[in-house]
Parts: sequence; C-alpha cells; structure tokens
Amino acid sequence: MPTKLTDRTGVIFGVANKRSLAWSCAKALDSQGMRLCLTYATDRLEAGVRKLAEELTNPLILRCDVTSPEEIDSVFEEIEREFGHLDSLLHGVAFAKREELAGDFYHTSKEGYMLAHEVSAYSLTAVARRALPLMEGREGTIVTLTYIGSERVVRNYNVMGIAKAALEASVRYLANDIGRLGHRVNAISAGPIRTLSASGVEGFSKILDHIEAHSPLRRNITGEEVGNTCLFLCSNMSHGITGSTIYVDSGYHIMGV
Ligand code: NAP
Repeated sequence: MPTKLTDRTGVIFGVANKRSLAWSCAKALDSQGMRLCLTYATDRLEAGVRKLAEELTNPLILRCDVTSPEEIDSVFEEIEREFGHLDSLLHGVAFAKREELAGDFYHTSKEGYMLAHEVSAYSLTAVARRALPLMEGREGTIVTLTYIGSERVVRNYNVMGIAKAALEASVRYLANDIGRLGHRVNAISAGPIRTLSASGVEGFSKILDHIEAHSPLRRNITGEEVGNTCLFLCSNMSHGITGSTIYVDSGYHIMGV
C-alpha cells in the first residue's frame, strides 16, 4: 500500500459509530501512522466515539457541529495547539430530514432544502477554509464522500442528491482555488453501505439488492474499500489527482441498461 504517513496529521469529520464511512477512513489513515483528530456531531455520540477511538494511536477527540462556526473554529484552534499543522481533512458529514428522503422530491420544504445543503455541502467549504492556514507549505489533501444520486435519479434520495451535486461542484471550485497552494481536494463516490445515515433513505435495502444484481462486480462494496481509497487520496500516490470524483461502487456508475 501507499507511502507511510508517520509525520502527517489529519482531521476526520463525521464519525457516528463503527459503521460510519468516516471511521473506515480513520482506520485506514491511522494504520499508516497518521495522527488523527476525530470529531463527532453531538454529545450523544461522544462516549461511543471515545470507545471506538481506543483502537487508534493517540487520537484527539473533539465535538463539532459543522453548522456552528464557533465549534469549527474551536476544533482548528485545538488542532493547532496539539498538532501545530494539518496535512489531511476527511469530510464525512451529511444530513437531511428523514421525511424528505421518501416520496416525491417536489414536496421538499425550503427549510429542509437549506438544512441539507448547509450540513452536507456548504460545510465542506467551511471546514476547508479553516484548515488551509494549518496546511500551509504541506501539500494538504481534502477528501469528501458523495453518492451517485448527485448525477442520476435514485428513488427517495431526493434533496440529498441535489446537495451532493453542490458538494461535487464545490470540490471542483475548491480544487482550482487551492491547487496553486499545492493542496488537493477530491470526492469519493461510494456505493451504498448500511450506515446510520443510509438507513434514513426509504427502501435502502432494495438499493443494496440492486447493486448486487446489476453492478459489474455483482456485489456491494465495503467500508474498508472506501477507507483504502481515502488513504490513496491522502498519500503521495495520488499526487497528480485533484478536483475528481473517484467511484468506489463495484463499477455501478458505468452501467446503462
Ligand atoms: P453516518 O455514519 O451516519 O455518518 C454521517 C455523519 O454525519 C454522522 O456522524 C452524523 O452525526 C454527521 N452529521 C450530521 N449532521 C451533522 C452536523 N450538523 N455536524 C457534524 N456532523 C453531522 O453515515 P455514512 O453513511 O458513513 O455517511 C458519511 C458520508 O458518506 C455522508 O456524506 C454520506 O452521504 C456519504 N455516503 C454514504 C453512503 C452510504 O451508502 N452509506 C454512500 C455514499 C456516500 P449524527 O449521527 O449525529 O447525525
């Protein structure tokens, strides 16, 4: 696998439990020696995340609701105090109201639309902006997680598909901004995996069955496969790649009928 990351540091947003894709990414980066800061969204998650983090080497654990500029500031102040610099950022955060992940998209409320975009798309830009000063001179890497519902209609994915389209466009604009500083940003478009967020999408089991039946690899992907791709995108092995969406989806995105 890629080069060791022993002198590098990273921050991970979006660990809820052991099924979280952010946790798979954390394990992959930690396995190559990166020192990590894990953040969790609410106090309700703290005990579980601290327990999980016992599997990592000396992580920093902090609370961060990404809709709060104060909490974002406080995370990066703590990282600066503790690590002094930052090399990588993994954004694994998304949210939409459960009732808007079912039925017709046109029922989406303005409030639900704004909330989904604030948490799932704008937050990438908010955390990236705050990370940049700590990445100065370090060829920083930023990775976010997206889904094919941004480009194609996936039943019940609704407002989250629109937010993911905004997230992927943000990756391209950010890539152009930060490339001149030597930093890179990419998205991983993951196939469906049963997680807390995914269970909010009505009919999620049918999506898993569909991928197993129709993707080129005829199986669903694993969190480990997402984690390993994150590791690749955070290592020098992907030095020439930025602004891209990399599919980890058993090849499903190539299929027509
Ligand atoms: P997950 O374990 O539920 O992770 C989502 C995380 O976002 C949770 O920790 C959640 O915390 C957090 N979050 C929600 N609102 C937040 C806020 N205001 N501030 C900070 N954190 C907040 O589910 P996941 O499937 O791993 O999702 C991770 C990413 O992968 C998401 O962007 C998702 O869209 C993407 N993705 C998932 C799949 C899939 O099939 N699972 C496929 C492609 C892409 P709470 O639990 O407190 O809400």
